Amino acid sequence: MKKIILLLLFVPLFSIGQDAIISDGPYIFIEKNKLIKKSIINSEVIFSDLDKSSYDTLYLPEKSTYNNVKKIIALSDIHGQYDLTIELLKNNKVIDKELNWNFGKGHLVIAGDIFDRGDKVNEVLWLVYKLEIQAKSDGGRVHFVLGNHEFMVLQKDLRYIHKKYIESSKLIGLEYDQLYSDKTILGRWLRSKPSIIKINNNVFTHGGVSEEFLINRGVDFEKINLMMRYYIDTPLEQMNSSIYDLYNGEKSLIWYRDYFKEYGEDLTDADISKILKMLNTKHIVVGHCSYDQVVQLYNNKIFGVDSSIKNGKYGEVLLIKKRKFFRGTLKGELIEFKKKSN
Ligand code: ZN
Repeated sequence: MKKIILLLLFVPLFSIGQDAIISDGPYIFIEKNKLIKKSIINSEVIFSDLDKSSYDTLYLPEKSTYNNVKKIIALSDIHGQYDLTIELLKNNKVIDKELNWNFGKGHLVIAGDIFDRGDKVNEVLWLVYKLEIQAKSDGGRVHFVLGNHEFMVLQKDLRYIHKKYIESSKLIGLEYDQLYSDKTILGRWLRSKPSIIKINNNVFTHGGVSEEFLINRGVDFEKINLMMRYYIDTPLEQMNSSIYDLYNGEKSLIWYRDYFKEYGEDLTDADISKILKMLNTKHIVVGHCSYDQVVQLYNNKIFGVDSSIKNGKYGEVLLIKKRKFFRGTLKGELIEFKKKSN
């Protein structure tokens, strides 16, 4: 009898413990005179040397403010859900069937959190990387605005990585954050990214902008982005309290939640107007707080674009066109957010 119970206990444990066959990458490492591409195919690491000219190895930060942009699409919190993201972008005509840029001179904003939770983070990053190049050559832009999960990984907080990436790191022989170190193509590219941008009259950031943040850190977006980039490689335990707060405080750009009463403090309309005035803008678009669709608050002053793509089942985008705001559903239908006149 004892034996049978033991057997029943151990059989499922063994099957969970077995390592799955994985494929991942490429991770491209920058050496002095060459690039080394490491891809994992069926749990085997395949190495190949690439010419140094195959990829840019220097990524300069882009400007933080853009004007006269005709159409903008924003989404966030992809969390490694590559397949759903592709479907969403295709149906909303941002990319075509071959996954190439199809949004002309439009701007695509990814408002943070591509990393963690899901198991196709690398695929999403390379897609965004490619679209950025294609968009630019069409007169459009892709902006990847960093979220708390990007900073967590780069600052060596690996609590939320999918278990597949524990395996990937082991196979390549590096800690997971080192797969995106400053000596890799995607790592350098990530380190050039902003934490806050403004397009027309819309500010985009992952968590949100608080009055406290603006009082303490100023309103100059170039300076804020420079500051956010400066400690991107500093592990949490090495930060002093002011730097820790910049990244992890409740009022930080990447963790703030107070626009949403279900998550934070529930500000008044006057509080929001004050923040908008300080920012010299009319709307703020954020991710980080999950809903089952794109949402608006404070009569279209604030938009939340975390539509729970992370669950891998459904997601939406926000389309901004001719000063109108629309939910773009997974099927690609547009539903306008009508402003209440008061
Ligand atoms: Zn977040």
